[in-house]
Amino acid sequence: MTEPFSSTPVLSYRDLLEGSPDPLLMIDSGGAIRFFNAAAERLFGHRREWLLGRHYRTLLPGRLQGRSEGQWDVFGGDPRMRQANAGLELFGLRRDGTEFPMEVNLAPVTASLNNVVATVRDVSERKRSDAALREALSLVSATLESTADGILVVTADGKIAGANERFANMWGISKDLLNSHDDSKVMAFVLDQLTDQEAFAAKVQDLYADPGAESLDLLHFRDGRTFERYSRPQRVAESIVGRVWSFRDITARTQAQDQARTALAELARQAEELKLLAFRDHLTGLANRALFRDRLEYALASSDRRGIHVLLLDLDDFKEVNDVLGHQAGDEMLIEVGRRLLPCVGPGDTVARLGGDEFVILLTSTPDPAPVAARLVDALNVPFILHGRDLRPGVSVGLISADDVLHAPDLMRRADIAMYEAKAAGKNRCLRFHPDMMTALLARTDLETGLRTAVEHGEITVHYQPVVDAASASVTQVEALVRWERPDGLTPPSDFIPAAEASGLINAIGQEVLTQTCAQLQPWLLKDGNRAVAVNVSAVQLREPGYARTVLETLSAAGIQGSQLILEVTESVFLDPAPHITAQLTLLRGEGIRVALDDFGTGYSSLGRLQEVPVDILKIDRSFVSVIHTGEEDLPILASMAVMAHHLGHRITAEGVETPEQARHLLRLGCHSLQGYLFSHPVPPAELPAAILGATERIKDLGITL
Ligand code: C2E
Ligand code: CA
Ligand code: CA
Repeated sequence: MTEPFSSTPVLSYRDLLEGSPDPLLMIDSGGAIRFFNAAAERLFGHRREWLLGRHYRTLLPGRLQGRSEGQWDVFGGDPRMRQANAGLELFGLRRDGTEFPMEVNLAPVTASLNNVVATVRDVSERKRSDAALREALSLVSATLESTADGILVVTADGKIAGANERFANMWGISKDLLNSHDDSKVMAFVLDQLTDQEAFAAKVQDLYADPGAESLDLLHFRDGRTFERYSRPQRVAESIVGRVWSFRDITARTQAQDQARTALAELARQAEELKLLAFRDHLTGLANRALFRDRLEYALASSDRRGIHVLLLDLDDFKEVNDVLGHQAGDEMLIEVGRRLLPCVGPGDTVARLGGDEFVILLTSTPDPAPVAARLVDALNVPFILHGRDLRPGVSVGLISADDVLHAPDLMRRADIAMYEAKAAGKNRCLRFHPDMMTALLARTDLETGLRTAVEHGEITVHYQPVVDAASASVTQVEALVRWERPDGLTPPSDFIPAAEASGLINAIGQEVLTQTCAQLQPWLLKDGNRAVAVNVSAVQLREPGYARTVLETLSAAGIQGSQLILEVTESVFLDPAPHITAQLTLLRGEGIRVALDDFGTGYSSLGRLQEVPVDILKIDRSFVSVIHTGEEDLPILASMAVMAHHLGHRITAEGVETPEQARHLLRLGCHSLQGYLFSHPVPPAELPAAILGATERIKDLGITL
């Protein structure tokens, strides 16, 4: 292989040129290629053995040779032109016939001015990226034009450099105005549309004072539109050359947000309303249980509990209003009650309905609650017309004052106990809680528990008290009196009958008494058809629709005539609105059974009503008998009771006769029968024959008969 440079000074660079990553070739003044490095070999695809000595034209496409030759010829011609010639853009021709863009740099070889070194660079890649850049630029401008944002570019000294069409449209700026580059005119046009022109101008000022700053703010138009304004510096390399403003019309979005905000506010209001409803009693509009509990807890949380009281109210006999007049009337009554309670308390107090006919009042700053309680009871007692009836609502109130230890549930329980006591004490009153009430309550629950199993445990027995007949001076009747023999002793009827009535247990107990009585007295009754046994019956029993049938079945099972049974009822039975009570009594009387009105004179029904009542016997209450001392005193009520009874054709029995004076006086008044300790105490069945004998002797001893 020929080494043309082996003897020239250039050769000292040979190794260097050979190793260069850039394609290099050396051309002599005649245009012949004298050197060709490995990188050039790779670029053109020619082997250098083949190329060396050939004209450089070999490396240029034929179509360009004429044009390019001139340039290449520069190096072969005028020595002044043999200066460095950089950045010639030509096309190269590869051995395989393909072309490529190349950039050629020419440098004279100083050691041999006739030679020139050409550095060739394949610029296909750069050409490609130039095309990509152009494409990108057109994309950017297309994007700019199609973007929803209006864009304005302003130079650093405040001149309009450009704007997209959207900008002009959004602001309604004509092309002419924009192209006029009269910035102050454009600014005036812009400002005129805004609600807060000063703020806009100030912002613009600020931003030009601080070229590097970015900002985002809202512009409000007089026509109701809202723009978002974004401003950022325009940079070229590191320096700021201007500012780009972009505007976005967010009117629709703002409106949607406003609507959403309004809707949310409305929802919140509704939620608030619902929350309020959740704390209101729907019928009366008073606070409900939940709200009351909240307020009570809150009140109790205060350091000073003086002045805090709870009044628990339960309407008296509300069930009757509901039963007799219907639920709507009941509701009206509850509403009226709420209306009356509110004015009785102060603005800081709470009146709540707990449910049913139960109300509760929380007083938070009342030194003495008693007058308030009295006011409440009085306010309710005022009559009001409901469905054509004059009603006088009564209320039983339990009062408890907060002390330093009681929690809300304790307070409520104590108020409840006091209320219960107010009911037991005769209703329509307020009772303040007292610890004794707790004991009473415990005893009551204990009593009820025991009563539940009394019948099945055989603890119910019957004692009998002889009743002497004045006409025959003999015992023709006995009264059956229930006894409850508990393991720890005898419990008197007055202690458990009310509880038995309240719980309904009286039905089973009453039946037990009747069954035992029939069984035990059947032999005595059979001996004489004039003999009879009196059994006490409570209104609760008569309210049971099957009561009359059961009585008749029990009698016939024991083989006892109806005429030998007397049912003792109290006046309250005839006040009970249940219509089948009188129907049952009528049915029983139809079977010969007699009805006695017990405790006569103690009730509050007028004597005048006596004639309407289906009874056969009046039992003058012990309280009228006990006032007889000498038998000589003037007792007009007792006398008129006797007259009335005779007049109505009822037989009269006097009970509680303890002295001969009482007996004589009662007999003088025309009582047909007498009953009391004077003749005999109530005795267990085994002692009854002896008691009857004793009683008979007693009346004979008195030596008085009518
Ligand atoms: P009551 O029907 O008025 O019964 C008369 C009560 O007076 C009985 O009390 C009797 O022991 C008492 N007594 C009799 N003679 C005298 C007397 O001379 N002086 C005094 N101070 N008291 C006398 P007891 O047995 O305690 O009965 C009380 C009440 O219990 C009865 O009053 C009656 O209302 C009720 N009761 C008793 N047994 C039954 C029953 O089987 N069923 C129902 N529903 N109530 C009953
Ligand atoms: Ca009785
Ligand atoms: Ca009685």
